[in-house]
Amino acid sequence: MAMRVKISITDRQRILDHAAASRAEVCGLLLGGVGRIAAVEGCANVSREPATRFELDPAALIAAWRAARKGGSSVIGHYHSHPTGDMCPSRTDAREAAADGAVWIIVGAGQLAAWRAVEHGALHGRFDPVELVVTAE
Ligand SMILES: [Zn+2]
Repeated sequence: MAMRVKISITDRQRILDHAAASRAEVCGLLLGGVGRIAAVEGCANVSREPATRFELDPAALIAAWRAARKGGSSVIGHYHSHPTGDMCPSRTDAREAAADGAVWIIVGAGQLAAWRAVEHGALHGRFDPVELVVTAE
């Protein structure tokens, strides 16, 4: 059975709006706890090829880790967009993903899909699908 992760309708929309505002790939952090996204935080895509790649701004990551240590929400994963509309992780995504259990949300064509980076994943040997449960709050 697929792992389930809850996301609020507001955070879901925030990710969609971020992706819709750019022709390049956008990215951001997913904050929360086990099975729950409590907040999303867009950050800069610092890749040198932002049209087809993403790289989370390391400063944003460090700031989020620091905030988590002070009692804030943990960084449970991240999101990025595929301007091509494909909601599946690419082979490049798989190559660059650590099998650390992080939640990956991918935006394509105005929709979201969620994945988890694991060893021996069903897709590209790295990702298992995650069921996103959209909640009112
Ligand atoms: Zn990708």
